[in-house]
Amino acid sequence: MDYQSILNEIYDEIQPHLDEGKVADYIPALAKVDKSQFAMTVTLGDGSSYSVGDYEKRFSIQSISKVFTFTLALKIYSKALYHRVGVEPSGNPFNSLVQLEYEFGKPRNPFINAGALVITDSLISHYKDNYNALEAILNFIRDITDDKSICFDAEVAYSEMEHGDRNLSLAYLMKSFNNFENSVEDTVMTYFKHCAVKMNTQELSRSFLYLAFDGKDPISEKEFISQSQTRRINAVMLTCGHYDASGEFAFHVGLPAKSGVGGGIAAVVPGKMSIAVWSPALNRYGNSHAGTIALELFTQKSGVSIF
Ligand code: GLU
Repeated sequence: MDYQSILNEIYDEIQPHLDEGKVADYIPALAKVDKSQFAMTVTLGDGSSYSVGDYEKRFSIQSISKVFTFTLALKIYSKALYHRVGVEPSGNPFNSLVQLEYEFGKPRNPFINAGALVITDSLISHYKDNYNALEAILNFIRDITDDKSICFDAEVAYSEMEHGDRNLSLAYLMKSFNNFENSVEDTVMTYFKHCAVKMNTQELSRSFLYLAFDGKDPISEKEFISQSQTRRINAVMLTCGHYDASGEFAFHVGLPAKSGVGGGIAAVVPGKMSIAVWSPALNRYGNSHAGTIALELFTQKSGVSIF
């Protein structure tokens, strides 16, 4: 299949949509990003990759980092992790407090903020302190991307902490239900730092390849997680990867994928490829507006599907 031509067509067709949507402005450092940008990369199991647009430009991966922390925590805690976080779609905004109160401090899934905070907390417990945990998370991302230069943007992380009241509230609420083990401030700061990791679409699609190939990187042949755990991560991405628009995304795109408020979306086609797309303006659910349309166009034009 001629993936480069498909991406070129998508690039042309997406142009009128780049004006639509709104960049995330609740994190001041992200509000400055120019919304006319667009990039997309497809990486195949043999390592070949195809890109269009601003594919060398790094952006804030935000919630996409939750897939990496979920992978690490699942590897460490296995099924015991599910005592602390569920795997059901929430049907609620990603930072909602109400459901967490009703459900006694156990977050619905690892991709809403409360669930991701519990996961970061579990990693801090395992690695003994927040510095070691952050280092382990960054090293894991460098390993799966096969790129040692991956780092986080301190300005974005600290800018988020200045407006971090809701995430701090989620963590305190969970602590009141005994579902939080470490210092709330340190854990939330570590969470903001891993959300502030910067990657471009080339790096991001490369980093998701292990999820398309049963937990094993087909290029380096390193095994990052087991086949059955990979299937579970993909299932949670399919059902919970797009906040409360996850059903709609599965309906229109039909691939396991995770979005972030920086405008990135990373998706996998099991056994075949991983895809990353970036365009900073978001739709009303907080998912990249043009990115979602581009992925729908890609599945239509290429015919790839998990169904
Ligand atoms: N760091 C962001 C937050 O906690 C992540 C949100 C996202 O990408 O969904 O609000």
